[in-house]
Amino acid sequence: MRESGTQPAIYLDHAATTPVRPEVLAAMLPYWTDRAGNPSSVYQAGREARRAIDTAREEVSAVLGARPQEIIFTSGGTESDNAAIKGVALASRARGNHIITTKIEHHAVLHTCEWLEQFGFETTYVSVDRHGLVDPADVAAAITEKTVLISVMYANNEIGTIEPLAEIARVARGRKIPFHTDAVQAAGALDLGVNRLGVDLLSLSGHKFYGPKGVGVLYVRSGTRWQPQQQGGAQERNRRAGTENTAGIVGLATALRLAYADLPAANVHLQGLRDRLIAGVLGSIPRCELTGHPTQRLPNNASFAFHHVEGESILLSLDMKGIFASSGSACTSGALEPSHVIAALGLPPELARGSLRLTVGRENTPAEIDRVLAELTPAIAALQAMSPASLEPQGPRLGASGAVPEPGAAVVAGRS
Ligand SMILES: *Cc1c(COP(=O)(O)O)cnc(C)c1O
Repeated sequence: MRESGTQPAIYLDHAATTPVRPEVLAAMLPYWTDRAGNPSSVYQAGREARRAIDTAREEVSAVLGARPQEIIFTSGGTESDNAAIKGVALASRARGNHIITTKIEHHAVLHTCEWLEQFGFETTYVSVDRHGLVDPADVAAAITEKTVLISVMYANNEIGTIEPLAEIARVARGRKIPFHTDAVQAAGALDLGVNRLGVDLLSLSGHKFYGPKGVGVLYVRSGTRWQPQQQGGAQERNRRAGTENTAGIVGLATALRLAYADLPAANVHLQGLRDRLIAGVLGSIPRCELTGHPTQRLPNNASFAFHHVEGESILLSLDMKGIFASSGSACTSGALEPSHVIAALGLPPELARGSLRLTVGRENTPAEIDRVLAELTPAIAALQAMSPASLEPQGPRLGASGAVPEPGAAVVAGRS
């Protein structure tokens, strides 16, 4: 990790991206140089690249418990989400025009559904509870005669909440509706067995599990009503045209295989760091809350909301100390607004604007967590002291006590 001032920087933003593991880089290098043939070419260099892609496909399908022909390599999580949703929706127009998803999906899902609305599709965005959990009964209640797809993420990228996928899958199966999950954040942490989960389509992205950027996976169960979204050559069995990213595909498969080879031990390490962070923050910083589910959360995600502080200000003070983190708020149209995920939790506004996401990784150490805690506590205190609201009398500490309003009912958007 690069230097910042005198101490080495601490990277705590593994939900945004991860560095490529050395073994992954080593596996990829020959496919840019000595074995750079086009996988569609018939001569030896092409056949070598083709074999490497075949092996990668088998490695990915082994982790998913899928068949190799059900794996499509894409350019990343965003393309996989687009191809899954558009591919099912456009193949189902004779049957219906209704999609069910949630209010806390990644923009790759939300904006794809919104895009489809201009062509006559309608979307129901199911609400979540204050921990970010989707209730399978809400999904069941949203189903209509016209529903052609249900898409619910496996684990949320901002707050780490893990959704009850298998239960939602039972709802979808019962009504014979294809079920897609964005599993980008779950990969490298949770079980990806597509049959245990009961999903028909699943999206992955290489750079979230120590693989390269710009390469992803779309799993499509055989027999699923789905059509390709990219036309051109016959690559990927006519389902995703374009010369394959051989090095990227080899890197993704190597990273996925390595992630699942020692998953339990890695998760113990991550959970230890995560819980050290959570206990340290909640124990030493007044007026803050854990966001996301207290137990049903990703092993590497510690996310918080701090009273009367702007998330962006926390990021800037941490950056000056060489600590790289993320916030669930973004500057939109000149004002700092909570992200759609934080907004969906129904937190009071003075809490919602002060969100901070710390996501630990394999290379982090307990000593780094202690340094982060030592820097974060005074940084938040200084920012809270600067806030005009800190002069107001302080109410009781907000918590899981019911101080949080019930999230609204599901809404339907789009044209009929
Ligand atoms: C990162 C991410 C994506 C997008 O993946 P890219 O490969 O960066 O396009 C989609 N969904 C979730 C939940 C993510 O965290």
